[in-house]
Amino acid sequence: MTATRHGRRPPVSWLAVRPEGLLVVPAGVFVDPLRAVDRALVTHGHADHARPGSAHVGATEETLAIMRARYGAAAGGRLEPFAWGETRSLGGVDITFRPAGHVLGSAQIVLEHAGTRVVVTGDYKRTADPTCRGFEPVACDVLVTEATFGLPVFRHPPPAAEVAKLLDSLRLFPERAHAVGVYALGKCQRLIALLRAAGYDRPIYLHGALVALCELYEAWGVSLGPLLPASAAAKADLAGAIVLAPPSALADRWARRLPDPVVAAASGWMRVRQRARQRGVELPLVISDHADWPELLATVEDTDPAEVWVTHGREDALVHAVRQTGRAARALALVGFEDEPE
Ligand SMILES: [Zn+2]
Ligand SMILES: [Zn+2]
Repeated sequence: MTATRHGRRPPVSWLAVRPEGLLVVPAGVFVDPLRAVDRALVTHGHADHARPGSAHVGATEETLAIMRARYGAAAGGRLEPFAWGETRSLGGVDITFRPAGHVLGSAQIVLEHAGTRVVVTGDYKRTADPTCRGFEPVACDVLVTEATFGLPVFRHPPPAAEVAKLLDSLRLFPERAHAVGVYALGKCQRLIALLRAAGYDRPIYLHGALVALCELYEAWGVSLGPLLPASAAAKADLAGAIVLAPPSALADRWARRLPDPVVAAASGWMRVRQRARQRGVELPLVISDHADWPELLATVEDTDPAEVWVTHGREDALVHAVRQTGRAARALALVGFEDEPE
């Protein structure tokens, strides 16, 4: 591997971009394919990475459990779990899953073939998160990285400070429900864990769409404390309570049951004030499950690749910044990854 470091373009003709996504040619396997294929490797359970219906699906046990919870029998034909750090060979390609720190089960996929090591990060973050395994930088020749927040303006504040804003507001408005928009996989459980770490031990009320994945996290050993269904609560019980719901539910009729709600949202996008305003968010909480700009750059330094491929997000700024470090970089034109629900 060292022979290919710095200056020389590594021989990675064995990876190809196809309409279905990134193909590992000798193994005949796609990483996070955009539609059902014969063989898929899946980095994590978010819907734009984990699509149902592939004949063979390789992923961590946790990710496969999330896919089963979301898709049932349609998750895939054969679900093939990879243990953390276990290496398996397929068509002469060694495949290993290493933690990505994004959500429960989220992995980077390490691919080794013909003396070259490629790391596909999937979505990742490097900030500590008690609900999943922490990101491990893996030295490589080619780093295929996400860039959801790939602009210098994106610097996520410490999550504990954002949670303190929510708890301050609760003290200030003890009669108002505090309704926080969170996505069901990852953000919901992380926000609960952050609240528990800050000493908040009262029941937290959940929209029905969040219950199943909270139970799944609990089953995987992530303690979330007392949780109650919001639908079964009397309106008076929700005064001064924290209620978590998908962002879409807070914008529709569902929110009318809440007493004088303070509408909050936990997302990296809350850094963009205009987005918060557009969504009617009174209390924006900048809590992200993606690497911010300094984390993206630190990952390039730590993994020390000769070449960086930037997948979804804001590719251009990161490509430019990587080239300034003397490395080759290019944007991979993979379509189908939305503005990450985050
Ligand atoms: Zn994701
Ligand atoms: Zn993503």
